[in-house]
Amino acid sequence: MKKIAIVTGASRGIGREIAKTLARKNIQVIANYNKSEEAANNLKNELKEEDIEIDIKKADVSRREEAKQLVEYTLKKYGRIDILINNAGISEYKLFTDETDEDWNKVINTNLYSAFAMSQEVIPSMIHNKQGCIINISSAWGVVGGALEVIYSVSKAGIDGLTKALAKELGPSSIRVNSIAPGMIDTQMNSNFNAEEIKQIEDEIPLGRVGNPRDIARCIEWLIEDEYTTGQIISVNGGWIIT
Ligand code: NAP
Repeated sequence: MKKIAIVTGASRGIGREIAKTLARKNIQVIANYNKSEEAANNLKNELKEEDIEIDIKKADVSRREEAKQLVEYTLKKYGRIDILINNAGISEYKLFTDETDEDWNKVINTNLYSAFAMSQEVIPSMIHNKQGCIINISSAWGVVGGALEVIYSVSKAGIDGLTKALAKELGPSSIRVNSIAPGMIDTQMNSNFNAEEIKQIEDEIPLGRVGNPRDIARCIEWLIEDEYTTGQIISVNGGWIIT
């Protein structure tokens, strides 16, 4: 039976590559987007050229009602959800003392609350089927903290807490929950870094380069096939941060 996967934030960057990778593995993908409708349409058309059909669905997953509608749409159309990739996220780069309550709410709701709400909506179907795989995209900053990215770091550390606790709660239902914590990945999220800054970072990375979305998608490929890994924070960062 064809597996069904929701990937949040799949219009660009890492989520887009994950959606493509899953779809090419004969998994039915529901690729969520929020603002980038054109990019989501391009993704659908790109895969159509390979004779692969994916669904694209708009939802602001930081809002409960829209997360709920995304899951209801999927269950109504496909009857089940086997894989949930909580990838949607935004970054912020500010001195801690300049951060506002609005910044806090925006980053926490987009990066952390979305994973809470999406997981809550999806899990009843997974429990019913006694199987499921949830992968949360956290960050190296959730593990070690990042200066000028305090709220972002909090949101990602929160994701990792969610991963560990949920893995324990859902293990008996054969549902695995893991985080992938990327290092620096070449996407629009890092477009504020200039070439010299990137070079400096690359000099600190043992594997000598920043990552690309494919590096993360490869880890996803492994994790969805795996049957015995749960509650783990898997760092994919070229050795930049080794704990
Ligand atoms: P990106 O290129 O900026 O893409 C972000 C994606 O998230 C977009 O598809 C965007 O969709 C979506 N998104 C944002 N807010 C959303 C919302 N409220 N509802 C639904 N979708 C939403 O960033 P990226 O680098 O691929 O990041 C993907 C994930 O990896 C994030 O969780 C990020 O924190 C994490 N990460 C990235 C890096 C890195 O170096 N790039 C490192 C560690 C972790 P729309 O454009 O359609 O709104």
